[in-house]
Amino acid sequence: MKITTRVAVIGGGVVGASVLYHLTKLGWSDVMLLERSELTSGSTWHAAGGFHTLNGDTNMAALQGYTIRLYKELEELTGLSCGLHHVGGVTLADNQDRFDMLVAERAKHRFMGLETEIVGPDEIKKIAPVTNVEGIIGGLYDPLDGHLDPSGTTHAYAKAARMGGATIETHTMVKETNQRPDGTWDVVTDKGTIHAEHVVNAGGLWAREVGALAGVYFPLHPMEHQYIVTDEVPLIRDMMADGIEHPHVMDPAGESYLRQEGRGLCIGFYEQPCRPWAVDGTSYNFGQELLADDFDKIEDSINFAYKRFPDLEKAGVKSVIHGPFTFAPDGNPLVGPVPGMRNYWSACGVMAGFSQGGGVGLMLAQWMVEGECERDTMAMDVARFGDWITPGYTLPKVIENYQKRFSVSYPNEELPAARPFRQTPMYDVFDEMGAVWGQQFGLEVVNYFAQGDEPRFETPSFRRSNAFEATAREVKAVREAVGINETHNFGKYLVTGPNARAWLDRVMAGRVPQIGRLSLTPMLSHKGRLIGDFTISCLGEEAFQLTASYGSQAYHMRWFEQNEMEGVTVENVSDKLTGFQIAGPKRARCSPPAHALMCRP
Ligand SMILES: Cc1cc2nc3c(=O)[nH]c(=O)nc-3n(C[C@H](O)[C@H](O)[C@H](O)COP(=O)(O)OP(=O)(O)OC[C@H]3O[C@@H](n4cnc5c(N)ncnc54)[C@H](O)[C@@H]3O)c2cc1C
Repeated sequence: MKITTRVAVIGGGVVGASVLYHLTKLGWSDVMLLERSELTSGSTWHAAGGFHTLNGDTNMAALQGYTIRLYKELEELTGLSCGLHHVGGVTLADNQDRFDMLVAERAKHRFMGLETEIVGPDEIKKIAPVTNVEGIIGGLYDPLDGHLDPSGTTHAYAKAARMGGATIETHTMVKETNQRPDGTWDVVTDKGTIHAEHVVNAGGLWAREVGALAGVYFPLHPMEHQYIVTDEVPLIRDMMADGIEHPHVMDPAGESYLRQEGRGLCIGFYEQPCRPWAVDGTSYNFGQELLADDFDKIEDSINFAYKRFPDLEKAGVKSVIHGPFTFAPDGNPLVGPVPGMRNYWSACGVMAGFSQGGGVGLMLAQWMVEGECERDTMAMDVARFGDWITPGYTLPKVIENYQKRFSVSYPNEELPAARPFRQTPMYDVFDEMGAVWGQQFGLEVVNYFAQGDEPRFETPSFRRSNAFEATAREVKAVREAVGINETHNFGKYLVTGPNARAWLDRVMAGRVPQIGRLSLTPMLSHKGRLIGDFTISCLGEEAFQLTASYGSQAYHMRWFEQNEMEGVTVENVSDKLTGFQIAGPKRARCSPPAHALMCRP
């Protein structure tokens, strides 16, 4: 076994294999993957292997498109089959809101160059004849949807990586990751110690345990998930005789996805009575095994599916696959340099490895090899959560995310699980005044104030929501009179030391102000991309205060640490300082209570 390497990727699931391949593709050949068992021994081997581009975040959707297109290239490069079935897929809408969401997705896809199409019920019946289209308004057809062989695909990534010079050590368990003072790592395995410049955590089901070896908490949690494969279905058999493969059907109302498997069907569910798995940690005794079948949990979902896909009821159950896989609190992967760490990278929390694994591998490899990614990765950046996050927050959010996997996602939608989690000093006062709360970076912030018997939440909508009147009222009050606003939810940093000005001059794109003055400035990456928008206040020749987005604290601190300079200290004081912003043409009469000031003409 090699004893030095530039990168040690821990975990040989589809994600670790993709990271390894992409590192070699971008020119790093001295890289190795360490897998405690055989490749695919975590969630990967029992996945249903479905892939699709549909994702609420445009950048994630684009990366899913990249992943799907990559499979053909991998097959050509390696000569191995990924078992591709590009059968297309249709997502159904049984009410106007669901349909609106699909139309909005289609608009995004047009911009991204994806050839999706809105289809009506008659067309759906023609494309996907197992569907009972009663009550269906329409759907979104995506010709790129399909499925593959999870094991074949992982091995294709692995072979492509080996062809690029990578080494793969199976049956090699990582037991410790110890950082040396120079920032490199001793990766201790049951076969010896490897000295690595970088470590990548691609531990999948065990990502929490792998992270703990380096003292890092990764906010993810495994959930149980089940799909059923049926015996032969006559309709499918007849279609096959005509050389036609049935496409995928996603039925959000029934929280199910369905596809052809052999001569039968395969259907999986994101059921409401879902169950988290391994709450206290994933045991290393868990091998390539399945969980016991649990039909009680999916009884309602099955009954719904029998109405939508009547052929299912007539077919016997051939096999049941019930296994765990991990989710982050918002369902997106956790990728990138781990804040507060040197040379430690995350490639975990990937809940749709066959839709996203290629994109995750590409982005991480670009980050490591080229210093930054070609696209905006905020939606999957591990730094979108701060050090405030705990398992007590992660678990209910992961459950919520699983349950809402097929729900309509609305603009500005606020989700209720694990809230309130962190509050500002004004929380109780504002709550009494009718605050309608939003959440940023785990903190409750006021979106607007309801009055009288107005609802205390914004009704989710693709059209004008009930926030419109209240917001108009507040805008008018500030324009004609005066309003006050708590500014706790700003990222705040103190930059001090003899080189503070020189450092700011280097890190920020705009001018650094003189004593007693403020300036606004963008912060740019080395390639000139916008990575922050700051207000700099010069408190003294060696002291500055920066304010920026509250939700980007971990992201900004990571950048500051990566670009540190001797003679400069940067302290994150975001939660140590609060403040108020008073705006409007009229002077406020400052007689308490404070709420008298709130947006009253
Ligand atoms: C029932 C079911 C159906 C699914 N269907 C789909 C689907 O249709 N489409 C889709 O895209 N996704 C699907 N998924 C999700 C998919 O399986 C995951 O997204 C994917 O497998 C995650 O891959 P991974 O590489 O991150 O993790 P894993 O597959 O869990 O791999 C992690 C690897 O790390 C290794 N490891 C851990 N700790 C160590 C250590 N200390 N030392 C060395 N090695 C270590 C493990 O042995 C394991 O091989 C499904 C999941 C389930 C459970």
